[in-house]
Amino acid sequence: MPELPEVETILRGLKPALEGQSIVAMNINRPNLRTPFPPDLATIPLHQTVTGLRRRAKYILIDFQHGWSMLIHLGMSGRLFIDPAEQNVPPRKHEHLVIWTDNNCRIGLVDARRFGMVDLFRQGQEEKHPSLRFLGMEPLSDEFTTGHLVPLCDTSRSIKDVLLDQRKIAGLGNIYVCEALFRAHIHPARAANKLTYAELNCLHGFIKDILQSAIDAGGSTLRDYVHTDGQPGAFQELHLVYGREGLSCPVCLEEKRCSSIQRMTQSGRSTFFCPHCQKKQERLTCDLQKNRRQSLTPC
Ligand SMILES: [Zn+2]
Repeated sequence: MPELPEVETILRGLKPALEGQSIVAMNINRPNLRTPFPPDLATIPLHQTVTGLRRRAKYILIDFQHGWSMLIHLGMSGRLFIDPAEQNVPPRKHEHLVIWTDNNCRIGLVDARRFGMVDLFRQGQEEKHPSLRFLGMEPLSDEFTTGHLVPLCDTSRSIKDVLLDQRKIAGLGNIYVCEALFRAHIHPARAANKLTYAELNCLHGFIKDILQSAIDAGGSTLRDYVHTDGQPGAFQELHLVYGREGLSCPVCLEEKRCSSIQRMTQSGRSTFFCPHCQKKQERLTCDLQKNRRQSLTPC
């Protein structure tokens, strides 16, 4: 599933094609994805100028001049492709929605598994939209500080469950939670309310680092995700634990210890971690964490 860095990368790819442009034609090839398409999808955006594009969590929001916005969620396998309209690109397999703009761009939404969503809402009504209203804080926003993370962790739930809870922090997914916890040397199953302030401060820094680094690398391509030009992301090459079960832990290897990445299941999802670097008990001092964080900063 595309997570925050992948959606942000797609959004940046869409901007040159859509911003300031009008929608001149649309093709809708089926009535629904995970939810039905809104009945006015074919008419409301038509001949309207796009005034801006935004991201909220894993949602792409396209604003039109007449006060409506289009919401796109890519689900598990959704992809958006941009092609020059004059190339007469034939419809792709599983292409459910196609938009043409007045700057001769053809934007196609492909979603083989159809877990995605497209909807329309009036600007200013984000807080009432069922998919947006309960979303938590944006982790890359200035408002997301260690001071905001501390009260979110006032629960006996595991720290991994807390980080994946979209009502608390919006946009984090399995890949980047596993990577941030590894870099912060925090076991994913530890109770969130047992973490020290120093550990949460360290984790907060790594959440920001990992998301920004992944955006800089164009996201992680594991299966379906590609940029709007069809190119894959590169951040999967920099994963230290995710998808690396049985391989050597890079930190332990550097410190000449023998430890391999393990996989366990939490809330039905795979968690990757190093049992040596990520102990279940609190054990690191702030200074030690700071040193270790510095050693991993190039991630
Ligand atoms: Zn290790």
